[in-house]
Amino acid sequence: MIIKNAHLLLPEKEELFFGDVKISDGLIVEWGTELQGEEIFDAEGKVLAPGFIDLHVHMREPGGEHKGTFESEGMAAAAGGFTHVFAMPNTRPSPDTKEHYKMIKELSKKSPVPVTLYGSVTCSIAGETFSNIEGLHEEGCHFFTDDGAPIATDEQMIEALQRIGAFGGLLAVHEEEKSLFTIGAIHRGKYIEDFEVDGIPSEAEWGMIQRDIDLLEKHPGARLHLCHLSTKEAVEMVQEAKAKGLRVSAEVCPHHFSMTEEVLLQAGTLAKVNPPIREEEDRQALIEGLKNGVIDVIVTDHAPHEEESKQLPMAQASYGLSGFEVAFALGNTFLVDEEELTLVELLRLMSEKPAELAELKEGRIEKGYPANLVLLDPEEEWTLRRRELVSMGKNTPLEGVLLRGRVKATMIKGRWVYEDAR
Ligand SMILES: [Zn+2]
Repeated sequence: MIIKNAHLLLPEKEELFFGDVKISDGLIVEWGTELQGEEIFDAEGKVLAPGFIDLHVHMREPGGEHKGTFESEGMAAAAGGFTHVFAMPNTRPSPDTKEHYKMIKELSKKSPVPVTLYGSVTCSIAGETFSNIEGLHEEGCHFFTDDGAPIATDEQMIEALQRIGAFGGLLAVHEEEKSLFTIGAIHRGKYIEDFEVDGIPSEAEWGMIQRDIDLLEKHPGARLHLCHLSTKEAVEMVQEAKAKGLRVSAEVCPHHFSMTEEVLLQAGTLAKVNPPIREEEDRQALIEGLKNGVIDVIVTDHAPHEEESKQLPMAQASYGLSGFEVAFALGNTFLVDEEELTLVELLRLMSEKPAELAELKEGRIEKGYPANLVLLDPEEEWTLRRRELVSMGKNTPLEGVLLRGRVKATMIKGRWVYEDAR
């Protein structure tokens, strides 16, 4: 197949290149101009980028099938332009033994978008006994986390760094010092009284990051990846750690760079996420982190929920929002249109950069790479209607919000798996 007349995101090029891509047997054969071939797909001047790679998602299966399944959320991922997602282990069971890992891996094949599983660091993410880390690695698992919970004690953190580091694995951490608050439903900012909750202070995040960076410095082991940064202090700490040469990386979610705590006033529990959406200064620092490379990648933390679990008082409602289908539009609207990043920079943070971090041969339009591609219209405006989301999770704080930039089609290994019906 030849995809013609596309603005291509090419490796190392700062500008999009207008031309064609030739695909055969699921692989990219070449790019150029005036390519000839049998089957022609006319991109009509839209942008063609490597498919997005999301290092932080919740697919919900097994154990949370009333919220989402590999099939439903895989379809939603494709609708968001993703061609590879990394599933967090807060499932029942969690991938903590070889048997559980193999069972979940088998289930994940129902997703139209390939899924890589994180192994859990501790059994059932309970923070007590360690998972069979070496056994999971034998099954092909290189990425570990207890996302949703921090690695509680220093001793556990050191052990995790050493055991995962022994085979060059990556340890991703959700940083949250739970002793600093009681009901941590929202940011400890302006609105804790309105919602009658205690809030999660910024220190809950940066305090734990400080601890882990210190431990990593003393006990070099696994590569340390810091999940969903939400505070300005965290960005500063990652910057210092990188300057010291520590093997640290970090991610940010679209809702943290596009919203502030004010969103709670209109969206209520639909804007309840963990870590919480914080203040303008934090948002600005996160954007700065993306601009100067302190933050390595954009991830969604896609977390679908059924309606009932959000129709509760703030203290009891579930954390999380449905992130796949708005990720590109939020980046395009709040970073590119606001002239914080170029479109090329945004697209790399969602494709090439996560591929590099996870050491995947993906994320580039280059000969021999898989034909995992996303076709985008950065100009198209659309109003989000949560009922129209492909995901089973209609939990988004963006109902009625006008966004710019739309995913038009998604290709995996040379085959279109999603086409926008509009
Ligand atoms: Zn988390």
